Amino acid sequence: MAIYLDNAATTKPCTAAVEAALEAMRVNYGNPSSLHRAGLDAQLAVDKSRKIIADSLGVDSSTVYFTSGATESNNLALRGASAAYGRKRRRIVISSVEHASVEETAADLEKRDFEVVRVTPGENGRFSAMDFLAACNDDTCLLSMMSVNNETGDILPVAEVFAAVKRKFPHIITHCDCVQAYMKIPVKPAAMNADIVSLSAHKIHGVKGVGAIYIKKGVRVLPLVTGGKQEKGIRSGTESVPLIAAFGAAVDELLPTMNERFSRVAELKRHLLGLVDEIDGISVNSHDEASPYVINISAEGKHSEIMLHFLENRGIYVSSGSACSKGKQSGVLEQYRIPMKRADSAIRVSITADTTVEELDSFVEALTDGIKKIRS
Ligand code: PLP
Repeated sequence: MAIYLDNAATTKPCTAAVEAALEAMRVNYGNPSSLHRAGLDAQLAVDKSRKIIADSLGVDSSTVYFTSGATESNNLALRGASAAYGRKRRRIVISSVEHASVEETAADLEKRDFEVVRVTPGENGRFSAMDFLAACNDDTCLLSMMSVNNETGDILPVAEVFAAVKRKFPHIITHCDCVQAYMKIPVKPAAMNADIVSLSAHKIHGVKGVGAIYIKKGVRVLPLVTGGKQEKGIRSGTESVPLIAAFGAAVDELLPTMNERFSRVAELKRHLLGLVDEIDGISVNSHDEASPYVINISAEGKHSEIMLHFLENRGIYVSSGSACSKGKQSGVLEQYRIPMKRADSAIRVSITADTTVEELDSFVEALTDGIKKIRS
């Protein structure tokens, strides 16, 4: 049996999600736009999931739209909001540690005459609200900042930043990528002062290929995809009823145990760090206060990918901690002031409440062996 410690990349769909998807494929296969009973039943399934997700965010169902995933939600937030508000205001402010779906989108907008300001963490690897405030001005249309970093688990001070920015610049649209926060820590757009929030189903035991975007009432976002005006024209295209039903089922199943799961995962993190502390040459790249779901460590001098494959040969799956896709370094660890040499050996261990102490013990055993066997 493989030991899967790569849950920030994707999670195993829960039984409720799989069953909901199967039910939608076997029985409820109508097109939500059709006017007959089969269409209505499909629309009801979509709206049921919409209500579950809206309730989890504490928002009205009419403000939640389904997309193909958080990459699309993030594109829609940046491109759609800047298209709506950016005619006169040409500045976009983001954090320097955003996921590629925000960073690359901002970089593309930069080529289209937007000015992009990237706010970096301070010397201590922490973000300060003052720095975001200083980066914003009257010319700014959008501020995008993630809630939990996918490489380090760092919890960014989103509520504090958005409140400070909204106080001084109420016209700025605030967007938060909540992919690694959702179902792990509370995500409430109103409490965060977020106008737009992005979510992904496959990070929370749903199925790949579906996500959601919350857009506050009154906030204008121009669609990226035009067509049959599904999702009130925000995202045309026939809704994937099976994936959406699975998304709702996963949220319904997981939300009641969020705090319990968090405590368990925090306990697992403590256990892991206790073991890792005993091993010479290991540094922890995540802050103590980071989300316990993501633990980034370095076995110094042992290249990430070599260690990753060494562990894989032992049936243990982790990520190389500084890669955004297939070995291409994202530079996020550098932003967090992790020295290059240490970043080169970073390993990301991402767990869930279902991870066991025994699995972590096996990981540490294999890691220790890897440190001995892999040449520096
Ligand atoms: N944002 C963050 C923080 C992520 O970790 C990911 C996935 O890795 C995404 C966005 C993209 O999500 P999706 O796979 O649903 O497109």
